[in-house]
Amino acid sequence: MLLREVEYVRPSSLDEALRLLAADDGARPLAGGQTLLNVMKARAAAPDVLVDLNAIEELKGIDLAPNGTLTIGAMTTYTELLEAAETKARPILGEVAATIADVQVRNRGTIGGNVCSNDPTNHLPPLMVALGAEMVIAGADAERTVKAEDFFLGVYLTAAGPGEVLTKIRIPAGRSDGFAAVTIGADGTCIVNAAASLNGEARVAIGCVAAVPVLIRPGGRDADAVRDAVRGADLDPPSDVHASGEYRRHLAEVVAARAIEQASARS
Ligand SMILES: Cc1cc2nc3c(=O)[nH]c(=O)nc-3n(C[C@H](O)[C@H](O)[C@H](O)COP(=O)(O)OP(=O)(O)OC[C@H]3O[C@@H](n4cnc5c(N)ncnc54)[C@H](O)[C@@H]3O)c2cc1C
Repeated sequence: MLLREVEYVRPSSLDEALRLLAADDGARPLAGGQTLLNVMKARAAAPDVLVDLNAIEELKGIDLAPNGTLTIGAMTTYTELLEAAETKARPILGEVAATIADVQVRNRGTIGGNVCSNDPTNHLPPLMVALGAEMVIAGADAERTVKAEDFFLGVYLTAAGPGEVLTKIRIPAGRSDGFAAVTIGADGTCIVNAAASLNGEARVAIGCVAAVPVLIRPGGRDADAVRDAVRGADLDPPSDVHASGEYRRHLAEVVAARAIEQASARS
C-alpha cells in the first residue's frame, strides 16, 4: 500500500532533530524504518513529519571503555553490532543481532529503533533488560538515563516519550550471557524468547509473554532454579494463531532454562 503524504526532514545534529520533534506534535523519529514504514503503510501510524536520524553522527558508533562498558549509539545497525570489534567484548550482542530477520533488515534496522518500537516479539528488549543496560534519552531541555527494566512501559510504549530521542545504550562488562527463542521458522518472529546474564546477580528476562519483558531474579543459578522462578512469575502470555497462552507459559520455562544454561557454560 502507498504511504499517505508525509513531510520528511533529515537533520544533521541531535539539537536540530530535537527542535524539529518539539515543533510538531505529529513529528516522529525515523531510524531504520523497518517497523515504522510498515506500520505507516498499514495505516496503523500516521505521522505528519518524519525526522530522519540517519545523518546524525552523534547517534552512531560503538565505544568500549577500559572497564569493559560498551556505549552503543542508538543508530547502530544490527550488521554493525555483529561486525564491530568492540562488541566482541559482549559476544551475545552480535550473536542475537545475527538472528534478527534477514540481511536487508539487519543492514537498516537499528538497536535504538528495536528497543523504541518495543514490539513484544522483538529480540532486543529482553536482551537489554537481562544485560542490565542503561538507556540515555535526550529531550528538548535535558538528558536522562533510565534502566532497561524501567524503559519498557507497554506494547509499543517506552520511556522515550514524544519529542525525545534515545541517543545511546550503555551495557556493563560481562561475557556470561545466553539467549534462546522459539521462532516461527528459522530467524523468524519470536513466539517466546529469553535472555540470561550471570555477571554478578543472575538475571533472566523473558519476551512475548507480557506487554514488556518480564525480569526474573532466580534464587539459584541453574536451570531448575530458573524454571521455578518462571513458574512463580507474573506472566500474561497472549494466545494467537502461533501458540496458546498456556503453551507460551510452558515455552517461557524452556527458553529461560536454555538461556541460563548457555550463560552458565560461559561463566
Ligand atoms: C520482515 C521483517 C522481519 C522482522 N523480524 C524481526 C525479528 O524477528 N526480531 C526483531 O527484533 N525485529 C524484527 N523486525 C523489526 C526490525 O528489527 C526493526 O528494525 C525494528 O523493530 C525497528 O528498528 P528501526 O531502526 O527499523 O526503527 P524504525 O522502524 O525507524 O522506528 C521504530 C520506532 O521507534 C522510534 N524510534 C526509532 N529510533 C528512535 C530513537 N533513537 N529515539 C526515539 N525513538 C526512536 C520510531 O519513531 C518508531 O516509532 C523485523 C522487521 C521486518 C521488516
